[in-house]
Amino acid sequence: MSITPLMPVYPRCEVRPVRGEHCHLISEDGRRFLDFASGIAVNALGHSNAHLIGAIQRQAAELMHVSNLYGSPQGEKLAQRLVDLTFADTVFFTNSGAEAVECAIKTARAYHSHGGNDHKFELISFKNAFHGRTMGTISASNQEKMHHGFLPLLPGFKYVEFDDLEAAKAAIGPNTAGFLVEPIQGEGGIRVGSDAFLQGLRALADEHDLMLIFDEVQCGVARSGTLYAYEQFGIEPDILASAKGIGAGFPMGACLATEKAARGMVFGTHGSTYGGNPLAMAAGEAVLDVVANDAFLADVRAKGDRIRSRLEQFIGNYPELFDHVRGRGLLLGLKLRVEPRAFVAHMRDSHQLLTVAAGDQTVRIIPPLVIDDSHIDEFMEKLSAAAASFVPQAQPA
Ligand SMILES: *Cc1c(COP(=O)(O)O)cnc(C)c1O
Repeated sequence: MSITPLMPVYPRCEVRPVRGEHCHLISEDGRRFLDFASGIAVNALGHSNAHLIGAIQRQAAELMHVSNLYGSPQGEKLAQRLVDLTFADTVFFTNSGAEAVECAIKTARAYHSHGGNDHKFELISFKNAFHGRTMGTISASNQEKMHHGFLPLLPGFKYVEFDDLEAAKAAIGPNTAGFLVEPIQGEGGIRVGSDAFLQGLRALADEHDLMLIFDEVQCGVARSGTLYAYEQFGIEPDILASAKGIGAGFPMGACLATEKAARGMVFGTHGSTYGGNPLAMAAGEAVLDVVANDAFLADVRAKGDRIRSRLEQFIGNYPELFDHVRGRGLLLGLKLRVEPRAFVAHMRDSHQLLTVAAGDQTVRIIPPLVIDDSHIDEFMEKLSAAAASFVPQAQPA
């Protein structure tokens, strides 16, 4: 037998973390890494956060799980908090981002079905988007590398260019149910949708009675400097998928919707055994306790601005390596002039700095939201040492 016990679907690197200390990870072999990857924008509170650990420990001892057959004081409380803090009137809790997007897709289809329009099932989604790895969510993305070996895809998705309002408008037809869009593409390379694009989608949705779904699995929960990114574009979606940072390491997600958008999500239409269990709700509460206030959000924006301006001053020293910096808050993308994977590996292996590669030749800089200036200094030191010692051709891919 040559297959590994862990199904070998990830090309895992040689770092094997066994402990987390705030914004650092310690590996099995004792090395200490600065974690500006945050488990792919998940560990919003860093590692070993006392408030999150305490909340999970207390809830684990009290009640972990009962299923959705019973009333949920824990779920009601967190749902009410999210409703109070956002555009939404109602929330469905999931265990992952892909499941939150699945719920969003079903909510949009059910909206039209409930209105007697079963033929309005098609979502217009955007090239280089990432919505997850289930059959539904890979079907929602045009990325062929995720489709290979898994055909046929689910019908009901049409892909158009991101940030191209005219293309989105032209794609609307009799079967269109709505738009599914990341307001800031994450895996696609930290590409921020323009105000005109996102506001234009809102206007088209209003005009044609379509659902506007925002996938904020990566950019949501304070990552972009507001609790949800939509707040920065002066519009509200009808449906929103949230996950990653919402549990800050505890696996959970949420699908948020307005009352109107959720009109088809009635008894028996959807479910999840684990979704919204008391343990997950305790984690979600603890995260909101920390991030859902103006002071914290202003701090995220200020730290993002500091990293960004230091990066902008720095990258001019290596014009053959770095192109530009983009993003919002602590969701930053450093676009390179070379393939990013080798440079990400070099920062990791030679300078103990963790970042994440993304599409469009971009390195994602997604630190815990609780970094302070010492971490920003350490980041800049490691990055500049890495840039100085990087030899593009000699790096393994
Ligand atoms: C990570 C991600 C997902 C999928 O989340 P999982 O928890 O891995 O299922 C969906 N959408 C976006 C924008 C993401 O970044």
